[in-house]
Amino acid sequence: MFTLKRAPFNLKSSAWLLFLKHPIVSNSQCTFSVWAKTIFPRTAVHRLRNMASNASSNQKPDMKRSKPPKETLRHVKTREQRKNVGLHGPANVYVQVLGAGSRDNGPSLYVFSEYNRYLFNCGEGTQRLMQEHKVKAARLDNILLTRMNWQNVGGLSGMILTLKDTGVPECVLSGPPQLENFVDAVRVFSGPLDEIKIAVRPHTDPQYSDNTMTVNQVPIFAKLKGVGQRHSPSPTRNSPRHSPLRELRRPMDGAGGIAEGREERAASPGGGQRDSRDPSLVVAYVCKLHPKKGNFLVQKAKELGLPVGTSAIGPIIAALKDGKTVTYGGKEIHPEEVCTPTDPGPVFIVVECPSEEFIQPLCTNQVLSRYQRSGAEGSAALVVHMTPESVLENDGYKRWMERFAPSTEHLILNEQVCTVHNVRSHKIQAQLNLIHKEIFPELKNCTTKDKQASLHVPNVRAECLLKFQLRPKFEWQRDAIPMCDASEFVKEAAELPAFMKEVDECKQQVMDLTNKAGREGKYPEVVFLGTGSALPMKTRNVSATLLNISPNQSVLLDCGEGTFGQLCRHYGDKVDEVLTKLSTVFVSHMHADHHTGLLNLLLQRERALDSEGKPFSPIYLVAPGQIMPWLHQYHDHCQEILHHVNIIPSWFLTPGVEAPRQKTKSFIQSMLKKCDLERFQTCSVRHCKNAFACSLTHRSGWQLVFSGDTMPCDALVDMGKNATLLIHEATLEDGLEEEAVEKRHSTTSQAIDVGMKMNAEFIMLNHFSQRYAKIPIFSADFSDKVGISFDHMSVRLSDFRILPKLNPPLKALFAEEIEEMEERREKRELKQMKEAAMEVPLNGRAVGGASDGAHAGPSKREPEEEAADMNNKRLKVS
Ligand SMILES: [Zn+2]
Ligand SMILES: [Zn+2]
Repeated sequence: MFTLKRAPFNLKSSAWLLFLKHPIVSNSQCTFSVWAKTIFPRTAVHRLRNMASNASSNQKPDMKRSKPPKETLRHVKTREQRKNVGLHGPANVYVQVLGAGSRDNGPSLYVFSEYNRYLFNCGEGTQRLMQEHKVKAARLDNILLTRMNWQNVGGLSGMILTLKDTGVPECVLSGPPQLENFVDAVRVFSGPLDEIKIAVRPHTDPQYSDNTMTVNQVPIFAKLKGVGQRHSPSPTRNSPRHSPLRELRRPMDGAGGIAEGREERAASPGGGQRDSRDPSLVVAYVCKLHPKKGNFLVQKAKELGLPVGTSAIGPIIAALKDGKTVTYGGKEIHPEEVCTPTDPGPVFIVVECPSEEFIQPLCTNQVLSRYQRSGAEGSAALVVHMTPESVLENDGYKRWMERFAPSTEHLILNEQVCTVHNVRSHKIQAQLNLIHKEIFPELKNCTTKDKQASLHVPNVRAECLLKFQLRPKFEWQRDAIPMCDASEFVKEAAELPAFMKEVDECKQQVMDLTNKAGREGKYPEVVFLGTGSALPMKTRNVSATLLNISPNQSVLLDCGEGTFGQLCRHYGDKVDEVLTKLSTVFVSHMHADHHTGLLNLLLQRERALDSEGKPFSPIYLVAPGQIMPWLHQYHDHCQEILHHVNIIPSWFLTPGVEAPRQKTKSFIQSMLKKCDLERFQTCSVRHCKNAFACSLTHRSGWQLVFSGDTMPCDALVDMGKNATLLIHEATLEDGLEEEAVEKRHSTTSQAIDVGMKMNAEFIMLNHFSQRYAKIPIFSADFSDKVGISFDHMSVRLSDFRILPKLNPPLKALFAEEIEEMEERREKRELKQMKEAAMEVPLNGRAVGGASDGAHAGPSKREPEEEAADMNNKRLKVS
């Protein structure tokens, strides 16, 4: 069972730290360390870990061995010095747009000062944007949420795991009090988050102050019409001590007979807690920068005869900066003569007004009105509106905006944006598109049908990376906004040696093939939406594959964070139509890179059904039963979600197992019928507990097998005998078999081998470690039956012949990366050989020679790895 303990958290505010020991899944993201080493240079990760361990142990840091870099020391020192000292506000502060509020990148803001980093809202894809645009997460210590809604918190679980794994010691979440429950819910699949202190500072806490600014949380409560009436019972109808299992059955109407119910009951935290969901609350933020003393004007001081350049000047500067008049050489010198004026500290406000029901309470809020024209606090410098056009168009909201001073800047984030966020994705796709126009279709944008509101105050529409600088001076800065020019990307590729030649040859070969057979048979079509592992990165997003079975039926295989965004960029304005065809989602296992995009998909699907005028129906969710505690926690405390799913626990689709409940049986039958499937089978695979692969056999005869994450697995080979297509994970390159065993993944050749044993007609590899971001290393086992997947790649059965022909132009396009990876491999192999050679004298044996050395390799490396592991554990424990 779990324990919930509240303990005071050693931060300046009265934030509280929640300790919840509740491990279900030990590794929350597949092969984290792989990407961590890729994304965060070794030194940075080590530095952070060292900082964390030094801070909490009494040992003096060994300055020789783990000397913290200068910058960090200075940073810490300055922080110390500045504590409790007035007029020492930050010198550099800016507010920067990350997600501009488009459908695929919800609104999020990054605020930078030399002392602190803040993130306002953390929707899905936020960390992918930060990674792509080099906005460092490593120093992020405050995440502020305006509302308990997936749009704002969808990327938070991934972000917390990333912060934890990169060694950020503590992070404070501000906003709705349900954030505590949200963090508990995340723990359902993340396992314990012991290495990072996650504190929640609810809006009910007093204002908070750090080295940069004072933050006031302003709760706005709306009177919502019809809340809780539609799908789920109101909190009052729940027994305060309901059992999670009972809770599970009620909305699920049997919940498909949870054979894994025992685990589920034990697993579900929050049992005994009353539902706390509150969609009527949004939190606005009033942030006031600390005042900053004026600058001392050296030239002016010299002109006035002050002893500049001598030791006597120190106290004089201090006095003048403090606003005192100084007499020097019989002359009275006033501060304004030699100092710029003190900056009292500008205010910026962040508000979300999601719907009309919030307009009245927002516009009459007393705290916010203090920063308007006639308010007591002076005008706000900037108001950030996370507000849809329908609300902006409202006269009440317009009048409220007009009540701010003419000097107040207004920044608007909503779906009415015209900005490209994921430039790298567009770039690679524009280049791949040169190789094959249909297999690598051009990416699209989602446009909104909303008309842009006509506002009476000057305002600025958000763009990705647009900045508003608050210090040293107010200024809009557009230089960071990324450019996305497809013709440039194409030009760049065309200039690569041999690329266009390979493309031409490939096109000729493809033409010869398609003249014979044609690229026909549109269905089934496999659209790879996410082909990377561990966490969303600029080139490859995490696991998701869409299987379009027929013009009106689709199944999604895995649904990592950002899957909906990938759908938006793949289908553009057709995304709603695509979502309405989706009836079934398979989630292979509970690692975050395979399921944290599910909730958005469900919510967006509901919106799509509504806008396409189709009746709502739940989705068939084939997943480990362990997904239910997560969905329940989220449903109970954050947002209604349970009515979206008809759960079919994966276990009941394994051979020889029969679902005990009629309800589950009928779900299975309806799902098969809906998808025109003869069979939907699963099997347990060798990865983590409750990890499954699946096999779908269509009535017309084709069979698709999807491995999920796994080491080579005989049960999978059996299940997929003579399959038409095997999609198999190939996380690591050949030569990293040991690492593959350790992380319970497959290497390229192992994946191919499984396909050969299975006698699969074709094998598509995916789930590549992010160290092979652009392209994995080709193994010697590649044959005409093997293809490499890319995000946004669309494959039909008739493409199997074509796919191997794409390899030469792919190799030419990524020649530089392939060369780098091969160099790395050679270095690694050389190192292994050297280690193997050194092993001999260490063992005190007289045997030598290269061949023995090669044998000795593993035995030498093992203790080393153990030592490295121990080191990591020690750091983790501390
Ligand atoms: Zn996994
Ligand atoms: Zn994975």
